[in-house]
Amino acid sequence: MVEKVKKSPKGTGPKKKRSIAGMVKEAPVEKLPVQVVPRHKHCFNCGVSVSPDKDLCSDKCQTDWDKMVKRKKYWTYLPLLGVVFLILLYIILNMG
Ligand SMILES: [Zn+2]
Repeated sequence: MVEKVKKSPKGTGPKKKRSIAGMVKEAPVEKLPVQVVPRHKHCFNCGVSVSPDKDLCSDKCQTDWDKMVKRKKYWTYLPLLGVVFLILLYIILNMG
């Protein structure tokens, strides 16, 4: 096996790319495997990183998300409508 890709983090010069890895190595506090990136959110709709005070990245995603939520609401109420329909059917059938 040729170790082409595996450059040692030490001695890479003034590049600050590897700082996160270095920090993790230096400070083995509690095990936090993925939560290295500080504070940010992901767009509900497409998953792009957004600032923590935002939920969605763009107007397009906002519209898409609204549509999705509406659809979700519809699917939440659909069984209820079914139950109401069955009750009505029951009443109608009992009336006759
Ligand atoms: Zn988005």
